[in-house]
Amino acid sequence: MVEIMVKCENCGFIKWVKAPRYQSYTSCPVCGRNMKLKAVRGGKIKVVQCPSCNTFQATKSKNRFKCRICGRSTEMSKLKVYASVDNARDASIIVRKLNSGKT
Ligand SMILES: [Zn+2]
Ligand SMILES: [Zn+2]
Repeated sequence: MVEIMVKCENCGFIKWVKAPRYQSYTSCPVCGRNMKLKAVRGGKIKVVQCPSCNTFQATKSKNRFKCRICGRSTEMSKLKVYASVDNARDASIIVRKLNSGKT
């Protein structure tokens, strides 16, 4: 299932919508403005979660993901891709957001 990231240009809130339900605009639950869709399908940089230490990280790898925190290496096909974007800045925003929300 492809998920598409939407980012609020006003307050920076990020959320994901599932591709089949995707609309070109959706309103921000934080500030109520319209959120624009950011590219996500087929981006070069993928945001994944390490199954071992649960840390979210961005990777450009297609085959194996190696965790920078615990060193565990996992096949990309076994990981859930939370977002896939084309620029490193967006990737780091998402990673920070996801890591700050994890329990
Ligand atoms: Zn907002
Ligand atoms: Zn790890």
